[in-house]
Amino acid sequence: MKDSGFSFRTTYTALPKQFFTKLSMHPVASPKLVIVNDTLADSMGLNFSNLTEEEKAILFSGNQLPEGSTPFAQAYAGHQFGYYTMLGDGRAHIWGEHLTPEGVRLDIQFKGSGRTPYSRGGDGKAALGPMLREYLISEGIHYLGIPTTRSLAVVKTGEQVMREVLLPGAILTRVASSHIRIGTFEFAFNHLGKEAVKTLMNYTIQRHYPKLMKSKDKAIDLIYSVMERQVDLIVHWMRVGFIHGVMNTDNMTLSGETIDYGPCAFMNAYDPSTVFSSIDHLGRYAFANQSKIAQWNLVRFAETLLQVIDDDVNRAVDKAKEVINLFPEIFQNKWLTMMRSKLGLFNSHTDDDKLIGDFLNWMHRKNADYTNTFLDISGSSKPVGKLYNDKTFNEWYLRWQSRLELSDKPLKSSSSLMRRVNPSVIPRNHKVEEALEAANGNDFKACEDLLSALEAPYTNRRSLRPYQTLPKSGTGVYKTFCGT
Ligand code: AMP
Ligand code: MG
Repeated sequence: MKDSGFSFRTTYTALPKQFFTKLSMHPVASPKLVIVNDTLADSMGLNFSNLTEEEKAILFSGNQLPEGSTPFAQAYAGHQFGYYTMLGDGRAHIWGEHLTPEGVRLDIQFKGSGRTPYSRGGDGKAALGPMLREYLISEGIHYLGIPTTRSLAVVKTGEQVMREVLLPGAILTRVASSHIRIGTFEFAFNHLGKEAVKTLMNYTIQRHYPKLMKSKDKAIDLIYSVMERQVDLIVHWMRVGFIHGVMNTDNMTLSGETIDYGPCAFMNAYDPSTVFSSIDHLGRYAFANQSKIAQWNLVRFAETLLQVIDDDVNRAVDKAKEVINLFPEIFQNKWLTMMRSKLGLFNSHTDDDKLIGDFLNWMHRKNADYTNTFLDISGSSKPVGKLYNDKTFNEWYLRWQSRLELSDKPLKSSSSLMRRVNPSVIPRNHKVEEALEAANGNDFKACEDLLSALEAPYTNRRSLRPYQTLPKSGTGVYKTFCGT
């Protein structure tokens, strides 16, 4: 394989051997390149311009890997919808850790690359639609300014995968700052014991929280730091109306990146109870529940570290509780700051909570679109149209205008703040579906167009109009599926 700039310096496989299994790749029948992310490649010090389409397909299918790659699958466990299960990479192979010219360490991972010792009953494969969906939405999330794993390429394998019907098989190449999950700690705690947890903790600190290396209370400080990153992440999701859909502990990273784009989707009409996942019958992972679930997941994380925190289990529990109990207040404060910024408010005022709450309630009652409504009020004049021809809105608008006058910055700064935090475009479900349907028929133009619309989501250009309009049929019935 020609040199594309990969520089593998894999460290994960120096952990105790129970944490992973080294594997060789399964060759695929006839790989065909669907998409490659040259912008991402460039930022990683990679360049594929010297490869032909065929060579790229061979590379991103795993039929031939670059020098230095030592594929392995990770062992992990997790609480899925509240229940503990042994999991692991059942359909993923990590090529290794690539070190960028700037010294950033990144996991390069195949998803949909065939069975591993952790596959249980699954075929280890993936279909084109869900892999392209992850590509589109993860790139959308990245350009919205939210920490996430990225997507480097998708190839079709030339094989069919059996779901409810036969579907074209595909492999996604995912880039992540690591794949360490809360579930990795649960695996270490439940199956390997205290020393393994400690080793994993030190490894995680070195990789993601190097400032904690000298800490006297590493476990507690790690819980706090992971909590901070998760709070920031979920506040971002709330800002743009993103619903992850399957916030199991194996889908929550220690790095604080969004991971595993399964049944996720963006909300159109504002409704805090929105759920898209077809299997989330109880609304466990509903839009407004995401912070509570993050806290629940962090409790599972803290449980794995109790023995490391203190030999006296009661003391350890008290210390861990003290940290995790800070979650609601930290979240509420950051959420309020974020919502204030959506309304162009810099400073804080005692009534802000109510001003924000009243606006959200009005949007909910009116089925107002979350993204477009914030965009509409970001303009220089009062928005017009049927939705805004409303007494409650008019009263609220006046209150908001008076509140803006209490801001310590000029109105112009408020408008520019609003434009920085309220996206003009998000990967709306019907546009994503439209693009995927065309892709299934081998037409990738809609995917490419959608991606270029998503690349600058805070500019309001005319070409974005088709991506701002709502689906004619409404969105009440939109469903997403996992086990993809
Ligand atoms: P996910 O829903 O992608 O977070 O996956 C949850 C678990 O199921 C992980 O352990 C995956 O590796 C595993 N899994 C998902 N799909 C498959 C498949 N087609 N074959 C084997 N394992 C799978
Ligand atoms: Mg997962």
